[in-house]
Amino acid sequence: MAVAATFFDGETAHDRPVTVERISNELQFSGENTPLTRWSIAGLHPIDPPSPGQPFRLTHDSQKGSRLILRDDAFINDLIASNRALRGGYSFRHLGQVLGWTVGGLAVAVALGWFAMSFLPQQLAHLLPDSWRNRVGEQVISSLVEKARKCETSAATGAWSAMIAKLAEGNSSLPPISVSVYDVPIMNAFAAPGGRIVFTKELLRQAETPDEVVGVLAHEIGHVAHLHPEAQMVRLAGLQILISAISNGGSGEWAGNIAALAAIFRYSRDAEREADEYARSTMAAASIDPMGLKHFFEKVLKLEKGKPDSTQTPSATKPTALEKIGDVFSTHPGTEQRIKDIQPLPTDHVPAKVLSEEQWKALKAVCG
Ligand SMILES: [Zn+2]
Repeated sequence: MAVAATFFDGETAHDRPVTVERISNELQFSGENTPLTRWSIAGLHPIDPPSPGQPFRLTHDSQKGSRLILRDDAFINDLIASNRALRGGYSFRHLGQVLGWTVGGLAVAVALGWFAMSFLPQQLAHLLPDSWRNRVGEQVISSLVEKARKCETSAATGAWSAMIAKLAEGNSSLPPISVSVYDVPIMNAFAAPGGRIVFTKELLRQAETPDEVVGVLAHEIGHVAHLHPEAQMVRLAGLQILISAISNGGSGEWAGNIAALAAIFRYSRDAEREADEYARSTMAAASIDPMGLKHFFEKVLKLEKGKPDSTQTPSATKPTALEKIGDVFSTHPGTEQRIKDIQPLPTDHVPAKVLSEEQWKALKAVCG
């Protein structure tokens, strides 16, 4: 069966009427200005998927850029029946190309995402306005301490001020901070955006000396100075945007999800090392005995080892937001190393007295 068709050779713009015939595994065509051409059926490629009643445009491996346009439906159907690749859409080769692009695109997206998550948040954190830092800091605290009571007495406030003043003797550029205590039965402390540092009642109950508390305080101020909480929020917001994009919607209620996301995104070991380093140098310069912090970490380590799983305590069936966020509990892995890194004050330093007996008592009693 010979049918009329149109041929473009891909080199000149002229369309040439040709007659096409199928002879065993080949299409053969020729016309007034077209010498006899033989295209193997195996080498044919559809330019568009075939569509009934529409011209079917083909090209061939041997003549890139050329086009053969068929219009005879019976001829087209017969041809398609003998070469699956002509059914259009996706031959395995095309599928391979598409997959290649998709996988390549994903790899690029993952690499960009990793870069964005690793470096950008810390840079962006420096650009955030104080109003944002303060507002988000308040949100973070209220979602983490839930309905716990805030403990406040003027004597305890005086004790915190005394500790901050003592640390400032070792570091004249302490960032502005505020410290609050919440009546939470879980031993923890954390820094929220805007220089807000939170201690739990349980941490103060377990602390045996003012040096332990001031050590934890110095560590949290280290997080504030490096804007780690802000960077973490930028990371979480970015993650939330990503999740919304992937799940195609979701109304950006990310502040409410902070606690859940924080469980995934604890501070990195680098961030913890930076905060430790800040605490060590500030305390050494202020002649505060770092053995308090060391003792505190040893206590944390003992608690960690006693726990079947870091996100669960034997007493609670469901871990609370504050247990999940970590910080003083996000010390593992590496608590042993952090303990080793804390060196005693040089022997010629007289350890400073951080709090008076009355101030210490006031601090321990702040939650009643
Ligand atoms: Zn920390």
